[in-house]
Amino acid sequence: MFLVRTRLHIHHRNACRALLSRHYVQPTHTALAASATPVEKILLDTIKANGPVSFATYMQLCLSHPTEGYYMNPANPVIGARGDFITSPEISQVFGELLGIWLVSQYLNTGVEQNIQLVELGPGRGTLMDDILRTLSQLPHSRSSIKHVHLVESSLALRAIQEKKLEAWRGKSGLELHWHDSIEDVPAADGVYTMLVAHEFFDALPFHLIEKTHQGWKEVLITSSSDPAAKTILRPSDDSTPPQFSNSPLTTPSHDRSPSQTRFRPVLATEPSPVSTLLGASSPRFSSLPIGARIEVSAASFRIARKLGELISQGAGGSALIIDYGTNHAVGNSFRAFKDHALADPFDSPGHADLTANVDFAYLAEALAGTATTHGPLSQRSFLLQMGINTRVAALQRAAALPERGVALGKAAARLVDGTGMGKEYRVMGVTGAVGEGTEGVWPFVAGEVQDAATEKSH
Ligand code: SAH
Repeated sequence: MFLVRTRLHIHHRNACRALLSRHYVQPTHTALAASATPVEKILLDTIKANGPVSFATYMQLCLSHPTEGYYMNPANPVIGARGDFITSPEISQVFGELLGIWLVSQYLNTGVEQNIQLVELGPGRGTLMDDILRTLSQLPHSRSSIKHVHLVESSLALRAIQEKKLEAWRGKSGLELHWHDSIEDVPAADGVYTMLVAHEFFDALPFHLIEKTHQGWKEVLITSSSDPAAKTILRPSDDSTPPQFSNSPLTTPSHDRSPSQTRFRPVLATEPSPVSTLLGASSPRFSSLPIGARIEVSAASFRIARKLGELISQGAGGSALIIDYGTNHAVGNSFRAFKDHALADPFDSPGHADLTANVDFAYLAEALAGTATTHGPLSQRSFLLQMGINTRVAALQRAAALPERGVALGKAAARLVDGTGMGKEYRVMGVTGAVGEGTEGVWPFVAGEVQDAATEKSH
């Protein structure tokens, strides 16, 4: 039977018990692969030459090495039914449609007709942008105002897929498509309103793992399993499993497993470093954590969120939606890998599996403070229900040519709002720029969480 699953479904053991009983596949504890992957060789050489690497370097090389990184290598199927994981826009068109409607409603709040630019961070297969463009092109208020689409995408392989998906939009109302390596390259022009989406983007960004000790924050690094020198300069972090500071019922973090199963193992640095010290001080929330706390902190996420806030506050203003799995606090054990729709050891086959870590939404909000206003986060379930997913699905079902299509539409939408799965674990944060926006009353964030039987049962 073909196995379809999202990246989030696998790790929430308790919350998703029903799903897991059908779909859960144990992480593979295979014997050490005979030959190392190209990224594995690069990592082992780097460790040999320079010593242990950070989790950030590990993640960066595994996902974004120019030719061998997971997202960069066209041989990796990545997203979709035939890929390693499936995402909300690939499940239902309604997802992108409702995101588009939220963005248009923020634009209408400005009360002034402006040119619009659309920006997406990490557009994957281009499906979400295609659905948003279709929605906006059907609304008289935005139809002729969209001039530019900016796609921030590091992978040339995925850019080619996005271009194929979106090229039909070229030329319509003079619409131009642009690709960028970084959000820094997206222009903010006078008189242009920016609509931005980032879906399952921040979870793919590199993070540093730091641990609070009596000497200050120290970084947990990655060394090779066979590194004989490591014990003399670094304490293996497996010596003392620190308490976890998450209310998420995550699976046992795979990087705390026996080191013999992969070529890598974590080690705690003997001294605080400038990086660990800076990151430990980067949020006032971290100062109240007890000794032994380990947290995943993404400096890249902070920088990009800050830039996002600046972008939607310049020109004629703007609005953004950030959707990802995560919590409103930091966690220390969410690093995981996905391969063939199953959870895998993040130290197994580097470069051949997707890597991900939960998003700390409070950290993003801290990065955005001062430049933009954040709303929520709300659960995806609450956001989509209050944006009218049921009404939209009913309309599509009425228009469906075949009854089976109607059933499929209903099932796909139900999956997005499932109170024990995607609907609960994914969060949606709204961001509105400083220009022309009120600070309160942004629907549906102002309405709060939808409380119903399904949601309550899962608490
Ligand atoms: N938003 C899509 C894809 C999610 S996968 C969806 O929901 O289906 C993550 C996406 O972010 C991929 O397109 C990946 O290539 C891109 N990506 C990851 N790290 C990136 C970075 N540092 N800069 C730009 N794009 C990045």
